[in-house]
Amino acid sequence: MESSAIRSVRPSPTLAADARVRQKIAAGEDVLHLAFGEAGLPVLPAVAEALARGSGDNRYGAVAGSAEARTAAAGYFSRRGLPTGPEQVVFAPGSKPLLYALLNVLPGDVVLPCPSWVSYAAQAELAGKHVASVPIGEAGGVPDCVALEEAARPGTLVLTLPDNPTGTVASPELVREVAAIADGAGLAIVSDEIYRDLAFDDEFLSPAEVLPEGTIVTSGLSKSMALGGWRIGFARMPDSDLGRSLGNAVAGLASEVWSSLAAPMQHVAAYVLSEPQEVRDHVAASRRLHRAVSLAAWERLTGAGVECRRPGGGFYLYPDFEPLRGRLGIETADGLAELLLERFGIAVLSGPAFGDRPDGLRFRMATSLLYGRGDEQRWEALASDHPAALPWIAAALDRLEAAVSTIARS
Ligand code: PLP
Repeated sequence: MESSAIRSVRPSPTLAADARVRQKIAAGEDVLHLAFGEAGLPVLPAVAEALARGSGDNRYGAVAGSAEARTAAAGYFSRRGLPTGPEQVVFAPGSKPLLYALLNVLPGDVVLPCPSWVSYAAQAELAGKHVASVPIGEAGGVPDCVALEEAARPGTLVLTLPDNPTGTVASPELVREVAAIADGAGLAIVSDEIYRDLAFDDEFLSPAEVLPEGTIVTSGLSKSMALGGWRIGFARMPDSDLGRSLGNAVAGLASEVWSSLAAPMQHVAAYVLSEPQEVRDHVAASRRLHRAVSLAAWERLTGAGVECRRPGGGFYLYPDFEPLRGRLGIETADGLAELLLERFGIAVLSGPAFGDRPDGLRFRMATSLLYGRGDEQRWEALASDHPAALPWIAAALDRLEAAVSTIARS
């Protein structure tokens, strides 16, 4: 067989960027790694103990997850204003496969905010879907309402609350407005709420509260508990006919592709999602740390003349260097990312990875890998009242500011 006959599937830009940066670091280069969306924090010991307790469980188990894990997830959603029964919950090895399964089985086109998380468009393409990309307005994660009115058509609208890549959180009013447009157009909503517990303010509205029958919520423990490598994701199907059909379809796809979330991880999920005080405290400390460092980075960037939406949750910023275009002598987002890496040793992920225009001078930076070189520094950062002042974090922020100021002065 000719190798050219093989269907080409590119690696996810975020994983590819991480591999490239780690190679540079391994080769002895001093790189400030802002290109990867990993939570950058240690495992809570009580969670490691839950995994140890579950390690003897070597059964395949039910596709959607154990009764304990599904009940705990139902409680998790119910405590957040979304009354949920265990039968509405499906677990998987990460929320990524759940999003892929949903985009596969839901009918119609896929409508995405632009920019949006790297994998939605790639997954939609793998699922053979047409993607309509709609620009964001004041906040990321949801499309601008006027543009959405024009682009709306039956299918699936994916929202990200809080957002990756912009780090913003759509206001409740905006969520209501977007949900009303989606409802009118026959769009089901997939609300990716994997950063929900890392929203800085209490003001959070899930579209599932506004459109309970037509909204699917996805989430996981990769971000709030920094367990990305443990691959624990879950989805809440609506309590409606659509929800029951979707739950069956997603579980059917899961049964043919990944079978179930690894059984020991289901024990972890049951423990974490029952939210004992220790877990709540850990998530609260993580949220404080992400907030302090991303806001400190935002202040440095905007202080140097760069435009940037103020972050409201998670650990991302999406700066726009348009005001500095004349001084850069660079015309593309990729050129800007390359300049930052080669001249200043700062790795970021350029805007087009998120569907943004190649000639927009924007990129995503994650602040979460700045918390320390090892677990000792990371625990110190978690416990600190002023983490941005810790020497290793302050040095990284200084380096970022110096690079941007050099560009602004040139
Ligand atoms: N959704 C968003 C917006 C993300 O940023 C990520 C991870 O980077 C995911 C989903 C996937 O998370 P996981 O598959 O680890 O649950």
